Amino acid sequence: MSAPSGFGLVFDNSFVRALPELCESWQAAEASTPVLLTLNDAVALELGLDPDALRSEAGVRALLANPAPHGAAPVAQAYAGHQFGSFNPRLGDGRALLIGEVIDTRGRRRDLHLKGSGRTPFARGGDGKAAVGPMLREYVMSEAMHALGIATTRSLAVLSTGEPVARETMLPGAVLHRVAASHLRVGSFEYAMRHPDTALIRRLADYAIERHYPDTLQHPQRYLAFFERVVDAQASLIAQWMLVGFIHGVMNTDNMLVSAETIDYGPCAFMDAYHPGTVFSSIDHGGRYAYGNQPIIAQWNLARLGESLIGLMDDDWEAAVEPATEVLRSFSVRYQRYFDIGLQHKIGLAAPSDEGALLARELLAVMEAHGVDYTSTFRALARSLRGDRQSLDALIVGSDVFAGWHQRWLEAVAAQGVSPHEAADSMDAINPIYIPRNHLVDEALNAATNGDLAPFDALVAVLASPFTERTGLERYAQPAPPEFAAGFRTFCGT
Ligand code: AMP
Ligand code: MG
Repeated sequence: MSAPSGFGLVFDNSFVRALPELCESWQAAEASTPVLLTLNDAVALELGLDPDALRSEAGVRALLANPAPHGAAPVAQAYAGHQFGSFNPRLGDGRALLIGEVIDTRGRRRDLHLKGSGRTPFARGGDGKAAVGPMLREYVMSEAMHALGIATTRSLAVLSTGEPVARETMLPGAVLHRVAASHLRVGSFEYAMRHPDTALIRRLADYAIERHYPDTLQHPQRYLAFFERVVDAQASLIAQWMLVGFIHGVMNTDNMLVSAETIDYGPCAFMDAYHPGTVFSSIDHGGRYAYGNQPIIAQWNLARLGESLIGLMDDDWEAAVEPATEVLRSFSVRYQRYFDIGLQHKIGLAAPSDEGALLARELLAVMEAHGVDYTSTFRALARSLRGDRQSLDALIVGSDVFAGWHQRWLEAVAAQGVSPHEAADSMDAINPIYIPRNHLVDEALNAATNGDLAPFDALVAVLASPFTERTGLERYAQPAPPEFAAGFRTFCGT
């Protein structure tokens, strides 16, 4: 451990020590005239940092890790990855750096990480840079996910660099400072498994187990147990994405963590009208990463993790295949269970049952048939329990099928023996009224790119309490105007 530095942090860089083969030592690029655009006080305090000190000139330099804070050991991490199904044996951090690890005030080991910090040995044709819009986008989306109770990397700060970045047009450059439980990706395992040092994959797996699933250390089949834990954690995570209508947009294996935190907010978006085929990403021509495909894609990615680990599971390779395949197959059952329970909770059914799961799925079919706004529906249902049918009637117009469903649903809620108001309250506690709606995010990022951060700050503040309805925030709860929704596309943050 090193002595406290000007950053006020004690670094303990276990990844660099344990896995030097996955590290290229590197320094963050200098920023000519850096300006702190947004700072997350809550995350700073969790790390034990003083937000006011981070706002000072020295704090800004420390956030940009140029020069690297005392005790940090910045590295670009090596990893491989399947991108849209095609394997790339060497991706790595082309424009990102792991600055170092710290133990936060809750005793958790956290990676401090930069994105947009300049070209690295993995940059290939890229410029190593990032623009203000996409970095603020990751900030607002990841913080919204956190407020929704979904595991995610966090955003500590976004800083503009003062340098232009060439994209379709010239854009202001920026760096994101993010914090994560780790950056161990499925792609890290794909890389280690193919490394000339055949012991590397075992060292990586042992490191990941110790860091994230230490209770499996004593398991007689620890690598199979580790695989099972990741499969289960990802099944739970993807179910949570699906329950809030989140579309990641670029579920490549290098964008999936074994810690099961959501990572790399590029072309992600929240779905408005419910439809399993919803795709926003401009590069996802085949709809591989469409909303409804996310569970099967997660399982596909986990198969790549299983393949990377299988040589560790048993001396006899063939003997390992069957139990590993069994674990992989269990993803669908686990996912469906998490999703079904969650969906029943969303409609106020506290004790999950087969009939409840069926009833909840019927609602999805009605939403799909009528192109109903996904998020609004659950709040409108709760309102109908309080005797206010107005918003529900405005959402789903003239459907006998829905009228019949609503009647059966009221009966199912009543049969639980709780009052309709109590059921409505528990629904509102888990169904957000405020999500990062595409038109609002777009509006905030456009303004920020032109130097006005007020809409961004306002949006971040609204999304920090997604379940509590506040007067004056009506426009934040509205779906996008149809003209906007029809033409909306998201782009990778390159
Ligand atoms: P992503 O799917 O956006 O997470 O990125 C995929 C790969 O491309 C990673 O290896 C990134 O480091 C790399 N990459 C993305 N944008 C750039 C850039 N502007 N310069 C260098 N590398 C990049
Ligand atoms: Mg990535």
